[in-house]
Amino acid sequence: MGSQVVICGGGVVGLTVARRLAKEGMDVLLIEKEEDFGLHASGRNSGVLHAGIYYAPDSLKARFSIEGNRRMREFVKEKGLPINEHGKVIVAKDEEDLERLLRLYDRARRNGAKVFLIDEVELKDVEPQAKTYERAIFSPNTAVINPQQVMEALAEDVLSTGRVRVMLGVRCLGRVSSDKVKTTVGNVSYKLFINAAGVYADRLAHFWGVGFNYRIVPFKGTYRRLKDVKVLGNVYPVPHPKSPFLGVHFTHTPSGEVIVGPTAIPAFGREHYGLLRGIDFEAPKILLQDSILLLTNPLFKYVALREPRKYVLRWFYESCRWMVEDLKVSDLKKSDRVGIRAQLIDWKSKELIMDFVVEKAERSVHILNAVSPAFTASLPFADHIFTMVKEYLN
Ligand SMILES: Cc1cc2nc3c(=O)[nH]c(=O)nc-3n(C[C@H](O)[C@H](O)[C@H](O)COP(=O)(O)OP(=O)(O)OC[C@H]3O[C@@H](n4cnc5c(N)ncnc54)[C@H](O)[C@@H]3O)c2cc1C
Repeated sequence: MGSQVVICGGGVVGLTVARRLAKEGMDVLLIEKEEDFGLHASGRNSGVLHAGIYYAPDSLKARFSIEGNRRMREFVKEKGLPINEHGKVIVAKDEEDLERLLRLYDRARRNGAKVFLIDEVELKDVEPQAKTYERAIFSPNTAVINPQQVMEALAEDVLSTGRVRVMLGVRCLGRVSSDKVKTTVGNVSYKLFINAAGVYADRLAHFWGVGFNYRIVPFKGTYRRLKDVKVLGNVYPVPHPKSPFLGVHFTHTPSGEVIVGPTAIPAFGREHYGLLRGIDFEAPKILLQDSILLLTNPLFKYVALREPRKYVLRWFYESCRWMVEDLKVSDLKKSDRVGIRAQLIDWKSKELIMDFVVEKAERSVHILNAVSPAFTASLPFADHIFTMVKEYLN
């Protein structure tokens, strides 16, 4: 087997990179351990196409999210897939939150995001059931898609190039030599290896001698759904400065359901989707890592102490009731939707890495922190990966 480029991981990153390289005339072998694409983060997220609001200036996230949002919306429409383009409002709980909201508005403007600062009356026009303290941010370009449908369409696109061979149900196990990767069906040769293994990317990268100072810590995102649809687009809180995540929010999916979430609960396995399901041999190591972070990282501590209680309906309700008029605890129904965030930690400094991370080493490229909004940003991000790997392929 002598494909030029071997990509490990059939999530949105693996598929969009494969599509981009195939369009440049390269032969690609895409290896995915599951029997289908998008069975992990890429098919289990909120489906929100973010619009460039939150991200640090000069970050890859800021660079790619606005263009990614535009291109993904175009892609979805071109494929005739459903999309909710009602936009998003970010609301404030109190005076302290309002100050944060105004700072967020400035950041969004500096990033070039299309946003409007609106008052309570204007908020009612956009999102009649949302509540805020004095002001809200309105983002008309935030949209919602069905991530599984997008994954299917991307996979079809990739296959239609005729340049991508796919191996489903095959796992990459590690590096054999500078041009061979070991898989569950034998060794595979490559000219270039791309690690797009999502929550396993750090483990795989270590075989290539890359990213020993990084570790991925999994966070579980659980959801509930609203009994009666009361939200037309998206209602988000202002992110809390002590939390690295956006906070539980309301999202009206294209199928007409309103989902509420996700939480960000430290998980005990990279696929710890159930209460016990997905806890594996790594659990003791993850528990130890979490304990160390609890003592050393204030952001992790804030999340770890608050988020697990959202398993309890009452606490979940408390985290979001203030954003929507007349929300009753009985409006929040169970949902089996759950995803795992692959959050990268710099283990030396114990800091959570907020931007995407891509590292190169000896004919290999490792995508190490494709956290949210990597789904939104995936198309320009794939262009970025292409420019990084060009030199290997001449
Ligand atoms: C709860 C939640 C909500 C989110 N909401 C949003 C949102 O609204 N908008 C947004 O833009 N982003 C969102 N995200 C982020 C987004 O889903 C991810 O950034 C994106 O899906 C990452 O894609 P990926 O391809 O890197 O990872 P994955 O989708 O996890 O793909 C990695 C693939 O690699 C495979 N794999 C792993 N190891 C191996 C191996 N050794 N051999 C072969 N295959 C392997 C896995 O099976 C998997 O299919 C959310 C994420 C979560 C968890």
